[in-house]
Amino acid sequence: MKLHEYQAKQFFAKHGIPIPRGKLATTPEEVEQAARELGGRVVLKSQILVGGRGKAGAIRLANSPEEARRVAEELFGRVFKGHVVKKIYVEEQLDIAREMYVGYVLDRAKKGFTLIVSSVGGMEIEEIAARHPDKISKTTIDPVYGLWDFQVRNALYKASMPNEYFKEVFRIAKKLYEILTTYEAELTEINPLVVTGEGKIVAADARLNIDDNALFRHKDLEQLRDYTEEDQLERIAVERGLNYVKLDGNIGVIANGAGMSMATMDLIYIMGGKPANFLDVGGGASSEVVKKAIETILMDKNVKVIFINIFGGITRCDEVARGIVKALSEMEIGVPIVIRLAGTNEEEGRKILEDFIRETGIKLHIAKTMEEGARIAVELARKIEEGGEA
Ligand code: GDP
Ligand code: MN
Repeated sequence: MKLHEYQAKQFFAKHGIPIPRGKLATTPEEVEQAARELGGRVVLKSQILVGGRGKAGAIRLANSPEEARRVAEELFGRVFKGHVVKKIYVEEQLDIAREMYVGYVLDRAKKGFTLIVSSVGGMEIEEIAARHPDKISKTTIDPVYGLWDFQVRNALYKASMPNEYFKEVFRIAKKLYEILTTYEAELTEINPLVVTGEGKIVAADARLNIDDNALFRHKDLEQLRDYTEEDQLERIAVERGLNYVKLDGNIGVIANGAGMSMATMDLIYIMGGKPANFLDVGGGASSEVVKKAIETILMDKNVKVIFINIFGGITRCDEVARGIVKALSEMEIGVPIVIRLAGTNEEEGRKILEDFIRETGIKLHIAKTMEEGARIAVELARKIEEGGEA
C-alpha cells in the first residue's frame, strides 16, 4: 500500500524527521487559504500515487495566495500518468541550496533492505546512479541484525557526504530505518532531502510504501488507503474471491491456477501481445466464478479481447463452459472471446459452447491448443487496436 506524500510526512514528523510546514487542500479556495496561512510563497504538490510528479508538471510553485489559487484551478481534475488530482498538499517554499537522497528498499534477492544514500538528489535514483556513481552508496541491511551505526557512517562516507551535513543526515537515516521497521514498509525514501539556504536539512518529499502482507498488524494505516481506479478493480476482485492483478496491456486473461495464468501471460508476450491482467479463477472453479471473472475483466476498459485458458483437472471444462454461456447470455460482452479448454470433460465443455454458438449466432473463437489461443487473441487485439473489425 502506497501512502500519499502528505500522509508519509506525518509519520516522518512523528519520528523526528524535519518536514516543511504544509496544509492539505481539496479545492482552489482551500489552497488559497492555505497559501495565505503559510506566508504566500508556496509549492503546490499534487497528491497522486506516482513518482516523477515534478517532471510531469504536477508540482508547481506559486508566489502569492492568488497565484496559488489560479495554479490550483489548473491542477485539480487534471490527469498525470493516469492519476487524477483530487488533493493538493500546499507547502511553504523552501530555499533549496542542495538536494540529497536517503532511502531504504526491500531487496528480496538479498533477503534484506538496501540503504541508499546520495549526496546529490532531486532526480530519480536511477539517474543519480548513472550520473554521479561516486556520490551514491548502497548497503545491504540484514533485518535480523538490524541497522548498525557503522553501516550508516560507511554509507555516508561512500556517498561523499560533506562533513557539515554528516551528523544530521546520519540521524535522519537512522530515523528513517525506525519508520521502515515500525510500519513494516517495503520502501521509504526522502528525495530530495534538502539543505536550505540557512543550512537546515528538511525532507522535501516523502515516500512510504507499506507491505500489504503486514497490513493486518497496522489497522490504523489501512484506513489511510487511497483506492485509485486500478486498486478499486483489485478490491472488487478480492471481494469476489478472484486472484486478480491489473496489468497495462489489452488482452484479458482468465486461467485456472497461478502457474497456468503466468504461462498464458508468457505466451501472449511471446506472440507479441500484452496481457491486461492476471486473473486466476483457482482450482475447481464453478460456472458462477467464471461468470464473475468475465464481469470483472470487462470493468477494465483497456480490455479488447478475452482469452480463457483452462486446463481441466479438478476444474471441469463443462462447468467453465456453462459459466461462459451464462455470462454471454446475461450481459453484453462487446469484445471477442477466445477459449481453449483441455482436460477433464473437455468434450462436454466444447459441445456446450458449440451448441451455444449454433443457437445464438454469437461468435466465439475456440482454440485447440494454448499456443493457438494466444495467437488468435493477439491477432484480434491488434486488429481492433488498428481500428478494424475483429
Ligand atoms: P516528485 O517529482 O514526485 O518526486 O516530487 P518532489 O516532491 O520530489 O518534487 C519535485 C521537485 O520539485 C523537487 O525535486 C524539487 O526540486 C522541487 N521542489 C519541491 N519542493 C520545493 C520547494 O519547496 N521549493 C522549490 N524551489 N522547489 C521545490
Ligand atoms: Mn521526489
